[in-house]
Amino acid sequence: MTDAALATPETPLAREVKRRRTFAIISHPDAGKTTLTEKLLMFGGAIQLAGQVKAKGERRRTRSDWMAIERDRGISVVTSVMTFEYRDCVFNLLDTPGHEDFSEDTYRTLTAVDSAVMVIDAAKGIEARTRKLFEVCRLRDIPIVTFINKMDRESRDPFEILDEIETTLALDATPLTWPIGRGRDFAGTFELGSGRIRLVDGGDEAAGVGLEALGGLVSEHRLAEVTEELELAQGALKPFELASFREGHLTPVLFGSALRNFGVRDLLDALADLAPSPQGLDSDKRPVAAEEPRMTAFVFKVQANMDPNHRDRIAFVRLCSGKLTRGMKALQTRTSKTIGLHAPQFFFAQDRQLAEEAFAGDVVGIPNHGLLRIGDTLTDGENLSFLGVPSFAPEILRRVRLEDAMKAKKLKQALQEMAEEGVVQVFRPVDGSPALVGVVGPLQLDVMEGRLKAEYGLEVGFEQSQYSLARWVSAENKLDLAEFLNANRASTAEDLDGDPVLLTGSAFQMSRAQERWSKVKFTDVKDVR
Ligand code: GDP
Repeated sequence: MTDAALATPETPLAREVKRRRTFAIISHPDAGKTTLTEKLLMFGGAIQLAGQVKAKGERRRTRSDWMAIERDRGISVVTSVMTFEYRDCVFNLLDTPGHEDFSEDTYRTLTAVDSAVMVIDAAKGIEARTRKLFEVCRLRDIPIVTFINKMDRESRDPFEILDEIETTLALDATPLTWPIGRGRDFAGTFELGSGRIRLVDGGDEAAGVGLEALGGLVSEHRLAEVTEELELAQGALKPFELASFREGHLTPVLFGSALRNFGVRDLLDALADLAPSPQGLDSDKRPVAAEEPRMTAFVFKVQANMDPNHRDRIAFVRLCSGKLTRGMKALQTRTSKTIGLHAPQFFFAQDRQLAEEAFAGDVVGIPNHGLLRIGDTLTDGENLSFLGVPSFAPEILRRVRLEDAMKAKKLKQALQEMAEEGVVQVFRPVDGSPALVGVVGPLQLDVMEGRLKAEYGLEVGFEQSQYSLARWVSAENKLDLAEFLNANRASTAEDLDGDPVLLTGSAFQMSRAQERWSKVKFTDVKDVR
């Protein structure tokens, strides 16, 4: 069979790809992401993807194990993935760390999803972090389904919330359901398309269809109110358009209460029916379609020391096309090395299991000893690389002060490992002076200090250095760059990949350098390959 024939929608591979939904939840802390995640997983149940996963000799990890690790670290810094099945779909929910300091991590995670769920607290509307995460989604026009949560509490007027989405995010908002009452009087929802009524205490079964049916279920006053709101809504709001949603211009909106497990099924149905299956991706050689038979994937996250007993590292890999089979050989295109994928893993709510096979859209963890890095592309042999898992210039630069000077070598290794994991950036000055670490937010320093102690037995502190700013430098002409680096030897450093970085003490000095060296490009974002 030719590749073209294999790529028709009838192939088993294409069928598998089509039923995948890989998404993340974006929200402001406290809006209900954790609660909603738990409810989503509940619908998925304790799943077994028939024939795909087997627990072979892998110690079953309980939820409390994970919690202990997170507790030790003092904060949840785990970007994990949870796989579950609902209807005929396989959902991969990529968790994003909640704290702002880990926005870089979050950004990378959002490069690995095909859609996102935006959770909004009905009383608070769009909050700062939601807006920030939304902007990240917008960079790739990721389709977004909106879940207005906490309708069982005093909330804003639904029109006001919809209006806020439209004005602050410049995103059309189309309700798929409409709330019947709110706060203590929140009784359920009316589905605009079908007229189906669901009541908060009514389980999953529809309580009736059409406004007439609602008559017998709520007070006359409430019926009049809902009737009026619906008339207004249908007159004033844009009808749902699939194409517009898929292009990232329109968000379907659902109302519910994660805590009371209401509206969660609507959300899953919306994801199954409307959200896109895995999309193709551009590489440096050619566009790659999700349904094509050849396996391609990229690493968007590396997590070290997940299991304190084994110093293992897990590279989280998003499959972009084809099928991964356990035991297959993969080409790491950055190094041209071949890697045997002997123990790829799926992650569930409380468990991880060997993945016998996985398809485009799936996220698998690949245990390794530091070989795999963020941004790496894996293929079944074809030499191509995906772009667009970026690094950002750190906002904070510090020197690491080591209490016990005898442990310098160990510190070097620990920093290298943490840099490969993406939790910190390490810059090594070319003049041989001690390395600097760079982070996006101050909390990352605390986490780093805690982990250096817990995982490596190193007592450290952090000191200000004369540098506060780092920019990657490059030039079209290699000679221009070489000349610049020669002249600025005292203030250049190399990053993890050996790429040159200029360090300065102020923004003023940076712009001076920029003015003087017009042929050199200074950037605060680096695309990792
Ligand atoms: P996260 O910070 O976004 O993960 O939010 P959580 O899921 O931890 O929820 C924050 C708080 O809001 C917790 O006390 C939840 O019990 C509560 N909460 C979440 N969803 C709802 C809801 O639908 N209704 C009400 N009343 N409380 C909720």
